[in-house]
Amino acid sequence: TTDWTLEKTAQRRDNYYAASQKKFVPFKDPMVFRKGSMQYLWDVDDRKYIDLLGMNVCISVGHSHPKVVAAAMEQAQQLTHCTTMFYHPVPAHFAEELAATMPNPNGDIEWVVHFTNSGSEAVDLAMTIARGYTGNLDLLALRSAYHGPTAAAQSITGISGWRHPGMPGNVAFVADPNQYRGIFGQNAGAQPYLDEIERTIHTATTGQVAGIFIESVQGYGGIIEMPKGYMTGAAERVRAKGGLLIADEVQAGFGRTGDNMWGFEADGVIPDIVVMAKGIGNGFPLAAVVTRKEIAAPMADKFMFHTYGANPTACAAGRAVLQVIKEDKVQENARVVGKALLERLHALKKKHTAIGDVRGRGLMLAIEMVKDHKTKEPDPQTTSAVFEQSRQSGLILSKSGAYQSCLRMVPPMCLSLEDVDQVADGLDRAFSNINN
Ligand code: PMP
Repeated sequence: TTDWTLEKTAQRRDNYYAASQKKFVPFKDPMVFRKGSMQYLWDVDDRKYIDLLGMNVCISVGHSHPKVVAAAMEQAQQLTHCTTMFYHPVPAHFAEELAATMPNPNGDIEWVVHFTNSGSEAVDLAMTIARGYTGNLDLLALRSAYHGPTAAAQSITGISGWRHPGMPGNVAFVADPNQYRGIFGQNAGAQPYLDEIERTIHTATTGQVAGIFIESVQGYGGIIEMPKGYMTGAAERVRAKGGLLIADEVQAGFGRTGDNMWGFEADGVIPDIVVMAKGIGNGFPLAAVVTRKEIAAPMADKFMFHTYGANPTACAAGRAVLQVIKEDKVQENARVVGKALLERLHALKKKHTAIGDVRGRGLMLAIEMVKDHKTKEPDPQTTSAVFEQSRQSGLILSKSGAYQSCLRMVPPMCLSLEDVDQVADGLDRAFSNINN
């Protein structure tokens, strides 16, 4: 039997969880969750919360969405697992359906899929594919990037809090084109950051690169949008040096940005490799690398096999997610509800001076707290206080950004306009309370 009490759960975690699992616990005073349905969570005391974190962006179409759960259960009962060594139609269908979501303006791109178990494994594989295909070792990544916990994914993750000793190298970091606090100043656009990519290739690599990894909207970086022209310009510069554009769509993908299925589409660029995870399975462990057939081709010379990649239970869930995205008009909802929430956040900024910036698109939004609007000194203390206070109003938020001074909102994409009122009112109360 399961002991559901907070006290015993905390005790077991203290006794049996490794230290590596202890830091990333957001609340000072945690709760035990018993149930989720769509955009809501309930704790063991039956308190209801709006999950603005989407259980870390995994819940794309809603907690325990009945259609996704039914699809996975039906498959699990038939055959829970079948690896890619053997033939099974569910992952094969899913690969076809995923490929069809990719841009293909002239119909001449043959998109192919390699399923993995997690986003970081997909990142890892994308690094291997890029290096293998181009024959170059050096990679570029952004300073506030987060790409995952495997040693390889850590090596292209810029935020120091996520970097541990023992990572492989051959990575050069470029400045984030952050339009609020970037090194070239507010609203500097893409150009100075593209020049910086060129300088970095010239001075911090061998001159030939395997590729650049870009999150079209940085997640853990604090919802940093890539300015217009940045991904396109980065692709041009990197391709000129033999490399590829690799889009990490782990957080921004599956319609979350509202306007498009994929975040990179906002820039009209077509990446060479796309990494996806989290929302792909609505909570079922699943991820994928999608690339052009010719880029994946050299991998045929060696073995590359992920035991649970293409697991049919997870892929059945993934197929249902794609269907629900269409049926529930999830992307459109992300656009409309995200816009309403963004407007409310802008109004909060006018009222509460701790808010230095409000940004994002669709249901990928953040507010950033500063101690001073001129110096933009990050304010992680106020961020934490608002975060804890919001919880009293039933809001689960997420602290993020290189300085933990942003509150990130990446809820299940079924968030409603009524929820937006509760979120804005709850945040308003939280800011007012901490000032009293
Ligand atoms: N890329 C991005 C942008 C992410 O946010 C994450 C997970 N937070 C990953 C990669 C790694 O995914 P996973 O945790 O599934 O390994």
